Amino acid sequence: MVKMAPMTETGYDYIITGGGSAGCVLANRLSADPSVKVLLLEAGGSDRHPFFHLPAGFAKMTWGIGAWGWSTVPQAHLKNRVLRFTQAKVIGGGSSINAQIYTRGAPADYDAWDRDAGARGWSYRDVLPYFKRAENNERYANEYHGYGGPLGVSNPISPLPICEAFFQAGQELGIPFNPDFNGAHQEGLGYYQLNQSNARRSSTSVAYLKPIRNRRNLTVRLRTHALRVVVEHGRATGVEIANAGSATPELIRAAREVIVTSGAIGSPKLLMQSGIGPAAHLGSVGVKVVHDLPGVGGNLQDHLDLFVIGECTGDHTYDKYNRPHHAALGGLQYLLWKKGPVASSLYETGGFWYAEKGARSPDIQFHLGLGSGIEAGVAKMRNPGVTLNSAYLRPRSRGTVRLASVDPNAAPLIDPNYWAEPRDRELAIEGLRLAREILHQPALKRFVLGERLPGDALTSDAELFDYACAHAKTDHHPVGTCRIGPANDSASVVGFDLRVMGLDGLRVADASVMPFIPSSNTNAPTIMVAEKAADHILGRLA
Ligand SMILES: Cc1cc2nc3c(=O)[nH]c(=O)nc-3n(C[C@H](O)[C@H](O)[C@H](O)COP(=O)(O)OP(=O)(O)OC[C@H]3O[C@@H](n4cnc5c(N)ncnc54)[C@H](O)[C@@H]3O)c2cc1C
Repeated sequence: MVKMAPMTETGYDYIITGGGSAGCVLANRLSADPSVKVLLLEAGGSDRHPFFHLPAGFAKMTWGIGAWGWSTVPQAHLKNRVLRFTQAKVIGGGSSINAQIYTRGAPADYDAWDRDAGARGWSYRDVLPYFKRAENNERYANEYHGYGGPLGVSNPISPLPICEAFFQAGQELGIPFNPDFNGAHQEGLGYYQLNQSNARRSSTSVAYLKPIRNRRNLTVRLRTHALRVVVEHGRATGVEIANAGSATPELIRAAREVIVTSGAIGSPKLLMQSGIGPAAHLGSVGVKVVHDLPGVGGNLQDHLDLFVIGECTGDHTYDKYNRPHHAALGGLQYLLWKKGPVASSLYETGGFWYAEKGARSPDIQFHLGLGSGIEAGVAKMRNPGVTLNSAYLRPRSRGTVRLASVDPNAAPLIDPNYWAEPRDRELAIEGLRLAREILHQPALKRFVLGERLPGDALTSDAELFDYACAHAKTDHHPVGTCRIGPANDSASVVGFDLRVMGLDGLRVADASVMPFIPSSNTNAPTIMVAEKAADHILGRLA
């Protein structure tokens, strides 16, 4: 039986539910006014562990510390495979555990939000100032980039010679070198810019929260789980929370707004736990319906990742640092000079190209992994290896997040519904073929002995489909489950100002509001959403 929460004396103006990429941004921007009281709730713990700060710590993050430990439901179009589905559970959220790749997507992505999804005021021209406001770019200062913002953006510190050969291989195939994927053009191969500063991760916890932790009007509560948003007479008035170690829930009041920033899985989950969502589903799991909102938990989109693994001719990647004495030397190199493998997020090189001829902007993204078996679940090779990941960027398949039960502690049912649309599969396999071709180019012959996965023997679409079903993994980019849209579309969850349709005092402001998935990684777009959300909340935007 669910215990009733006692009322607390403490009240806040704003309660933010989730201290992830978006939540930390909002905590900073909203508490800048000393006259308002802000509470940031985070279910996970602190980011004190060094793995959260050393760039190479990412390799330990895809499963384990700082994550919820969720999986998908069996994927009907991937031979019913269940995929690991890592989502962050730590202050800073995804920005504390991700690969630190700083990409924004194509201008056409945001123009499509505005034009095709009815997200008025979210065109590229509208959102570019928010990307720039967030940014402290160490290299660029131009119409696309800014410096002086909180978020560290820098170039890789210790690239390896194989990265340059990768660029040459691309050029041999007709794919140009691109020095800035977030500038005038997205296509090409090159170094990613990274969310790092001074050879350390620049998460939103580090960039936005740490500098303001002594603000007296901001309270951050870690290991505190938001159980439900309390709605009274059509208005969100507070949040019921559970503290770690306490059996009794507590209710905290929000005088102005509750802002849901629990991530693309956590936000629809929290809304549905609160009785806000599709009535039939809520009823089926025994949650009392407070507000029937059919779009909550729908429209789930993600990038599905395929990869090629090559065996190297020598120690050309970071695999050798799996051996203890090399690891010790790598650690020393970092301590003395802030260089070497520990300063590398291992995925610092990649780019964008086309699977579909005539696509409006690149639809395939590559990530060159400087080793084999970097990602959990991928078998290590006997010799050093290199991994080239490819992901199709604009899937048409749509999935769902649903509650498994009325218990807020139960894991959600995550169904990305990968490859429900056959065209997604065809273009993803085309991207995998492109990745193979790059690894086979003459420029990489000095570095790569041969392909080991999928392996030269597998060539037909059917064989590559079987390979993909066995090895495909999430790129960790879920979005869309509380989408922005027009009021007359029943799939819309929030309006252009991120207010939840039909309720007062409640917004969602994280990756879940994106109507279409950006053609890139999703951390920078999420930070942009939170920066813009702050202006909506503070009344600086109409
Ligand atoms: C392993 C991994 C690698 C990635 N690599 C990259 C990359 O290199 N580049 C890139 O751009 N993107 C990357 N991403 C994606 C990017 O990090 C996410 O898109 C982004 O962090 C999403 O931000 P968010 O604020 O929407 O959600 P999150 O950052 O996930 O934040 C949600 C927060 O809410 C908390 N929460 C959830 N439910 C509750 C609740 N009920 N009560 C209290 N707190 C709650 C969670 O613990 C979490 O901290 C990666 C993601 C992962 C997981």
